[in-house]
Amino acid sequence: MSDIIAESLLYQNVMESLHSAGELININQNALERLKRPRRSIIVSIPVYMDDGNITVFRGYRVQHNQTLGPFKGGLRYHPSVNLSEVAGLASLMTFKNSLLGLPLGGAKGGVEVNPNSLSKTELQRLTRSFTTELGPFIGPDKDIPAPDVGTDSQTMAWMLDTYSAENGFAQTGVVTGKPIEIGGSMGRDSATGLGVVYIMDKALQTMNKKMSESTMAIQGFGKVGMHAAIEADALGAKVVAVSDVTCAIYDPNGLNIKELVEYIKEHRILKDYPKAQQITNDELLSLDVDVLAPCALDGVIREDNADIVKAKIIIEGANGPVTMSANQMLFEKGILVVPDILANGGGVVVSYFEWVQDIVWLFWTEEEVRSKLQSIMYRSFDKVFEFSQKNQKNMRASAMAVSLMRLEKAMLLRGLAW
Ligand code: NAD
Repeated sequence: MSDIIAESLLYQNVMESLHSAGELININQNALERLKRPRRSIIVSIPVYMDDGNITVFRGYRVQHNQTLGPFKGGLRYHPSVNLSEVAGLASLMTFKNSLLGLPLGGAKGGVEVNPNSLSKTELQRLTRSFTTELGPFIGPDKDIPAPDVGTDSQTMAWMLDTYSAENGFAQTGVVTGKPIEIGGSMGRDSATGLGVVYIMDKALQTMNKKMSESTMAIQGFGKVGMHAAIEADALGAKVVAVSDVTCAIYDPNGLNIKELVEYIKEHRILKDYPKAQQITNDELLSLDVDVLAPCALDGVIREDNADIVKAKIIIEGANGPVTMSANQMLFEKGILVVPDILANGGGVVVSYFEWVQDIVWLFWTEEEVRSKLQSIMYRSFDKVFEFSQKNQKNMRASAMAVSLMRLEKAMLLRGLAW
């Protein structure tokens, strides 16, 4: 029988890292077998009244991988290429990320096979409400807490919250995270992933006896992650010499004026034609001689065939999977510190966790509280991974997975493997 869960390359890659990290820590075989398969995979048909009066039935997924450490948690994406196997791979990555960061949460992911740009706002709302109804028995603040991902946003979460609450008879703000502040969202969620990248950068620089204020940085991508990483790094005194988007990269060896750039992007949306810096290509950005390179746009940008152009001493993976497995090993052998995505871009899920906690107790924190709690989790997680990597002479990617698995394995054995 064919194994639809294992069809995608993404799922196979995640399983490969699970295996090799499992070997590294000599993981209990029963725990490994359990982690290889998601606990529950849900496929739903979502009927939606379109604006023309016809009904279109969309396909939606929610894969709940593991809940040993707490309720399932993970994003929902709206994208035409969403499929069960990819969602399963992403769900298992959430299990490993949440475990690594020490959060009391399991891993899940979901999505709908749809191009959100082809739907009107009212169609999107009906799709989201209908999807929420179908997922209703399986989600909830104590069971599984979705969040925004590719193609979804805080408005999507607001509609989900509203539908779920209406069907349950009372306000259930803790059913989703990434909501607008007015209906139970957390302060600091927008900047969380970029800020987390910068906290990790700070720790990585410290391992090389360097300070933020003495460092230079290049960032690929100037979206939700990259722009906030630039703002936060700049605020801590680092010199951000280059940033890019899909249209071009811009460079100023004396440091870009980030405040001005953010205003420019608000008005023009793209970097092309920014007048106060030199235009370079995205490939040139990757090869700049900087302390820190933060790829915060796409996966697979640093590969075996171009890894040797990288001159940065540290790479912080703001995006998911920007450095391929083979390039990762090459860079490690060259002495370049690559901090992997499950650690480096974990700031978003940490603040999602904070949002869920605040919703449960109906007590909300200031932005300063959120930032300082985020900092301690990112610092602590970095230290654990770095220590493992030094002790075992392994790269940071393998070490992050190993640290995550050690916590999970212990919890699974204590509970008796039921989950
Ligand atoms: P976004 O859509 O807000 O921004 C993406 C940026 O990348 C944009 O500036 C875009 O112009 C740029 N870009 C696109 N194609 C490019 C190309 N070919 N070359 C250079 N730049 C290009 O997305 P985001 O939310 O910032 O996410 C970026 C990455 O970070 C993704 O891999 C995402 O999965 C990951 N991530 C995001 C979060 C989060 O909280 N937003 C959390 C964890 C991981």
